[in-house]
Order: sequence, then C-alpha cells, then structure tokens
Amino acid sequence: MTDIQTETEPLRQSGISAASERARSSDHPDCSSRNHTNMAEGVPSPSYSDCSSQNHTNMTAEELPDLLCMTQGELADFLAVLGEKSFRAKQVYDWLHVKGVRSFDGMTNLSKALRDKLGSVSRITVLRPVQVLTSQTDGTKKYLFALSDGNIIESVMMRYSYGVSVCISSQVGCRMGCRFCASTIGGRVRNLTAAEMLSQVTEIQRIQKERVSHVVVMGSGEPFDNYEELVRFLRLIGDEKGENLSLRNITVSTCGLVPEIRRFAEEGLPVTLALSLHASSQKEREILMPVAKKYELGEVLDAMRCYFSRTGRRITFEYSCVQGVNTSSADADRLKTLLRGMNCHINLIPVNPVEERSFRQPDRREVEAFKDQLEKSGINVTIRREMGRDISGACGQLRRSYLNENAAAEGAGGQTPEI
Ligand code: SF4
Repeated sequence: MTDIQTETEPLRQSGISAASERARSSDHPDCSSRNHTNMAEGVPSPSYSDCSSQNHTNMTAEELPDLLCMTQGELADFLAVLGEKSFRAKQVYDWLHVKGVRSFDGMTNLSKALRDKLGSVSRITVLRPVQVLTSQTDGTKKYLFALSDGNIIESVMMRYSYGVSVCISSQVGCRMGCRFCASTIGGRVRNLTAAEMLSQVTEIQRIQKERVSHVVVMGSGEPFDNYEELVRFLRLIGDEKGENLSLRNITVSTCGLVPEIRRFAEEGLPVTLALSLHASSQKEREILMPVAKKYELGEVLDAMRCYFSRTGRRITFEYSCVQGVNTSSADADRLKTLLRGMNCHINLIPVNPVEERSFRQPDRREVEAFKDQLEKSGINVTIRREMGRDISGACGQLRRSYLNENAAAEGAGGQTPEI
C-alpha cells in the first residue's frame, strides 16, 4: 500500500548496524520460503538448501533462517536438506514451541553434532528484556525488549479476572500517523517477524512463570501493514502441536486497511477483529487518522461487515475519547446510524495524553453520558479500564521515553541501562 506517513529512520541516524539496516525493510529476512529463494540462486521454492551447504558462510547471523518462524512442515524440509530424518523436526519443534527452549544447547535429545550443525546454519530469535515497569495501581507490567538488531519494542501484560492478557507490537514504530498515538511519532522502522511477535508472548510467560491466556495485537504498529508475518504468527501461536493458544482469545486491531480486512476474512482464523474507529464521521476521522483519507468510513465498515459474515466473529470498535473532539451528543447519534444492525461492541478508551500531542481526556461524566446515549440505542458499550496509566500508559510512549533517555545518555557519554 501507499505510505500513509513518510518513513523516518531515527535509529539509522544513531548508527545502527548494516544488519539492522537490512532488517528494517518490510521483507526482514524471515522464514517464509519466498525469502529463502532469494538467498540461494537457482534453488526452487520452497527450499532451505541455501542453509545446508556452503552458502550460509556468507550470511550474517541475522540472515540465517530463524527456526522459530517455521511450521513443523517447514522444519522437516529444512532438516531434510541437512540429511536429517523427519522425526527430528518434531523434536526441534517441540523444544521451541512446547518446552520454550531458545538455544540449540538446550535441545538435549539431539546429538552434539546436530546441535552444532544447526547452530552454524540457522538461528533462534531471542528477545532481551531491557526494562520492565510495574504499575503501582493495577499491577500492569510494561516490557521493553531489545531485538537482535538493537531495535526496541514494547509489550504490555495485564491481569484480568479471566486470565493474563498480553498486548504485543507488530512493527517497530508505525507509519499510519494516527494523531493521538505515540508509536507513530518516529515513523515505521521495520516490520517484526512472526518469531518476534511470538517471543513477546513466550518471553513474558517465561519471566512471569504463568500462562498467557489472551493476546491482543494492538501495540505499536499496524498488523495488516505486516500481513504475512501476522498470519504466520497467528498460525504458530494457535498450533495445537505447539503453543496452542486458542485463536478465539486473540484480538487483532487495525486502523482500517480495507483490502487486508477482506483478505483476512478468508484466512479461516477465528480471531476477533477490532477496528480503530475513533470518529463518527468521515470528516472527523480524517482529522484523527490519515488512513481515513485512503479508505472511506463506509468502505471500512463494509469490510468489517464482510469479516463478520465470513467468520461469525463479533466486531469490536475501538473509540478513543478525545476532549472536545468526538464525544458529543451528535457523535453518539451518528454512531447509532452508522452501526445500526451490526453485531458489534464498542470499547470507549479515554485517550492517554501523549507529551508530543495536544489531545486531552474528556472528564469521566462526559464519557459516561456518551456511553449511556449509545446504550439506549441498543449498542453494546464498555469504557475500557485504564491500565498502567502510571507507567507511560499510551501505546509506544514507554519506548519513546526509553529512546529519548538513551539518546541523551549517549550524547553525554552514558551507557545503555539494562535490567
Ligand atoms: S494507533 Fe495503531 S495504527 Fe495508528 S499510529 Fe498508533 S500504532 Fe499505528
């Protein structure tokens, strides 16, 4: 799709490596077969034969295939090229996706020779936690993870009566330009791989020593702007031979990329789809979200209706309440008309103030009145509990503070703080 916002490269200016420069493109070297075909000339797709012989010697560590992105079938193909029997694929897949091992040395039922071979021709994504903040008010935890190329991403763990929910990022930064969002201020740096999305969940599970029951893909990034890796991630995390998280407990949130919503409806994945609606009219939406200029509100709502009719999954609308902008009585009336007849739910989210933006939260009574008006017309509405407000609650805000602090520390000759 066309760029919504010009990409900026904040980390490039601060001297990221050549490897990370390659990684910042949309086609980060991942495990999808299309990328592997590019690595080894003349090798038919799908193929991992570039990793089996001498070709890998020219690859940097980051260019090696990431076993954590592979399905069990792809692992079997990969190992077959190395001359290994297919049962090895089950063993390796089990280590990665059931036992949560993240090193070849930890795969103790493989021979030392095979572990060494795997270590020289492939890699396993590992996220490094660099900061964890815990809310004193509700126990929400915000994690900052360092990726192998030095980029930083943010994930959030929230505890509810029904279980533990983790909100993950799908991109480093975002190029959609929503006016109330901190994630987009530096533009999009790069897409995350499926393994980097998965690892946000598994790493939090490992640190917390408890099972994550729900996942929301609602952190930094527009998931449908990274479509292939998103779908790969969903298939991996929902695989009953692996992580086996119910896809019904996963919500994917989009700002409204119409072709991708319609494509997603055909994937056969029973996840909840949430639309960042945030306005009751095309004009208002364009003020808050540049993407609205590309896809009109009516078109987006039609795509959401299509998602419901193909999957039977009730639609969620996210609605950030901004003081003086979108919570008037006229807004409620327009929403009633727009959503009439839809099987949907609206989440009202008092906007989190972002330092670089001028938007403010309406007071609680204004939000309650807006909710009441919507409910009277039969729409299902909740006001989302504000989680982690005392720890840089807005999406992307903690990452921005971290990057700003580290840029200042580097300027002063300081060192990167780590936990
Ligand atoms: S709200 Fe979502 S899509 Fe919009 S800029 Fe922020 S991260 Fe991107």
